[in-house]
Amino acid sequence: MQPRDLSAHTPYVPGRGTEEVARELGVDPEDLTKLSSNENPHGPSQQAVAAIQDAAPTVSVYPKTAHTDLTEKLADKWRLTPEQVWVSPGADGAIDYLTRAMLEPDDRVLEPSPGFTYYSMSARYHHGDAVQYEVSKDDDFEQTAESVLDAYDGERMVYLTTPHNPSGATFAIDEIRTLAESVEDHTLLVVDEAYGEFSDEPSAIDLLSEYDNIAVLRTFSKAYGLAGLRIGYACVPESWADAYARVNTPFAASELACRAALAALDDEDHVEKTVESVEWSRDYLRAELDVPTWESAGNFVLAQVGDATAVSEASQREGVIVRDCTSFGLPECIRISCGTKAQTKRAVDVLNQIVSEVPPA
Ligand SMILES: *Cc1c(COP(=O)(O)O)cnc(C)c1O
Repeated sequence: MQPRDLSAHTPYVPGRGTEEVARELGVDPEDLTKLSSNENPHGPSQQAVAAIQDAAPTVSVYPKTAHTDLTEKLADKWRLTPEQVWVSPGADGAIDYLTRAMLEPDDRVLEPSPGFTYYSMSARYHHGDAVQYEVSKDDDFEQTAESVLDAYDGERMVYLTTPHNPSGATFAIDEIRTLAESVEDHTLLVVDEAYGEFSDEPSAIDLLSEYDNIAVLRTFSKAYGLAGLRIGYACVPESWADAYARVNTPFAASELACRAALAALDDEDHVEKTVESVEWSRDYLRAELDVPTWESAGNFVLAQVGDATAVSEASQREGVIVRDCTSFGLPECIRISCGTKAQTKRAVDVLNQIVSEVPPA
């Protein structure tokens, strides 16, 4: 007995967890600074924590009201109809729902390279395939309609990541507009705004009232600090009506996740403080690291360090975990998540020391 041919399915390589690294190094996880997965270093909103505690005794019941309430609150926030808000287990879950809704077997998606690997993984799970457009380091990861259209060949879905992971580059809203007007009628543009809260660009959700071929992904994992709960959503074209009911996994967004997200939306202070902290950390990393870095609109900074694997391993031995971008196809770069002041300063000290010792590749 074997599963279907999975040889084209590349496993997702997450940033390394503190427990895992602590065990390997034989140290206390508390002594590690984890800046590898773009999580919120200030944790979740205390109001979200309270909502989770309050909801704990009710988890014997399937989540229904909480899901409806969250959908309505998000629709209200973005001035959409509730049918346009697809609540999901993380933005990754929303990617699966969109893929299910869009792809026939052998259909293709067009995605950025380097980029977020789950786009192509989801396409393959759904018997489709992925091709890439380049987001070129030589052009400082500039993202334009033209660079996408150069590679575009009528794919069913086109992913745009803004801010882009791992570079932090944005896609200007007018360029997205140009793309919406340029692609063929059967193509859906999927704008991934997982890091949207950290950027000054307006959200592409504003374009949903004008264009019928755009979907936008958002998540509570990054700015809202709820990565462990798995909650996100897609905003979809108005004409899709009841498609959600036909593609979603029943009750995949849990009661606790929906309740926490509802509370987190009410705690604007927490998001504001998080964004301010990220702005400080981004500036500090760019000003103080002794290696080239790129301007970032996300909660992370990409840095060119020479041998990324050697540098990230050395950094880990010093207790600072950063993301080796070799798996993104950038073997000379690391991605450093924006930490608290203390974490950011520690990361800069450790990394500057290492790059002064490790010769460039
Ligand atoms: C983190 C991330 C996501 C989704 O994260 P979830 O935890 O599944 O919500 C989506 N896209 C990009 C580019 C990301 O970095």
